[in-house]
Amino acid sequence: MIKQCVHCDIEFDTESARKKEVGGRINECIDCVEELGTETAIKHRGLVDFTNNNIRVMSFKDKDELERFNKTKDSENSRLD
Ligand SMILES: [Zn+2]
Repeated sequence: MIKQCVHCDIEFDTESARKKEVGGRINECIDCVEELGTETAIKHRGLVDFTNNNIRVMSFKDKDELERFNKTKDSENSRLD
């Protein structure tokens, strides 16, 4: 479906693979979602747990929670290195 972006008025395809990847609202174009950081639907992330070779799927309320988790993960990784 072709929609007009509510922020910058360009027309974009809501069904495009890129749009699905970046997410955001149905009336926001890819550029604006990326620029404004309006995507808040990142809720699940697959993780490989090397201790038992399991893939875990974590869920996150929002981007902030995901970022906090990533920071924790980074510090753990650096300790392991
Ligand atoms: Zn836009």
